[in-house]
Amino acid sequence: MSENCDHNCSNCKKDCDSRSFLEPLNSKSSVKKVIGIVSGKGGVGKSFISAALAVASARHGLRTALMDADVTGPSIPQLFGIHTRAVGTEDELYPAVTETGIRMMSLNLLLPSETDPVVWRGPVISGMIKNFWKDVLWGDNDVMFIDMPPGTGDVPLTVYQSIPLDGIIIVTSPQDLVGMIVEKAVNMAGLMNIPVIGIVENMAYIKCPDCGKIIYPFGSSKIGKRAEKYGISKTVRIPIDPVFADLGDRGEIEKLEGDWLDDLFAFVN
Ligand code: ADP
Repeated sequence: MSENCDHNCSNCKKDCDSRSFLEPLNSKSSVKKVIGIVSGKGGVGKSFISAALAVASARHGLRTALMDADVTGPSIPQLFGIHTRAVGTEDELYPAVTETGIRMMSLNLLLPSETDPVVWRGPVISGMIKNFWKDVLWGDNDVMFIDMPPGTGDVPLTVYQSIPLDGIIIVTSPQDLVGMIVEKAVNMAGLMNIPVIGIVENMAYIKCPDCGKIIYPFGSSKIGKRAEKYGISKTVRIPIDPVFADLGDRGEIEKLEGDWLDDLFAFVN
């Protein structure tokens, strides 16, 4: 991929090997950096971190897009308090725009009702994600974060192959760092030649609201040693904080404070 790639293959004449399975981005859009947020399994806070990254990015003045590719558990619109349906024409779909200007698309904006379950087989789900990339009028963006489907199975593999990711950020819980779940995610990125930008250890500790004491409910952190083993230099540790869950439940994630994730932005700029 060229260093100045804007992922809009229709404007580019380069003979690029890595593009063999890649789908073209929407022809009227451009994205400078595409970053996948991945996890070895569900429930570790991947969607929360994807949304928090997009919020921090917009706050840094970057033109930011957020694709909810976690199609069977699409929780991104809820985090931003967006409950409208997406609109579009026969050829293209308009992203929802959040209060701070993040352009967002999720299957939940397309379902007749946001509580409808998605009981689709893998290829249909992957097809939907490719359509988000091709058919949504994303506009011009500095960065797009993609909340990837969890795990290392068929659906995430297709996304890796069809969307030109510049890097991934792995979200994990403290227990998963001990087992092989994170290693699988690291190895999958390696197989696809996609750099791992950093690891986020979510729910790493709790700070007592009364005395300020730090409690490690899952034992002392293993992230430093693991990151060293995988050759990943950026690590971030996020506490369990009921305020985070509350902001998400109220659809007010854009009010999230803190600069925990800022270290991961060097890659974008
Ligand atoms: P995933 O996308 O990995 O399945 P979610 O991002 O949906 O997980 O998170 C699961 C739940 O945990 C959500 O209700 C979210 O608000 C909450 N949550 C995530 N991270 C934290 C945290 N650090 N502190 C408190 N609640 C959190």
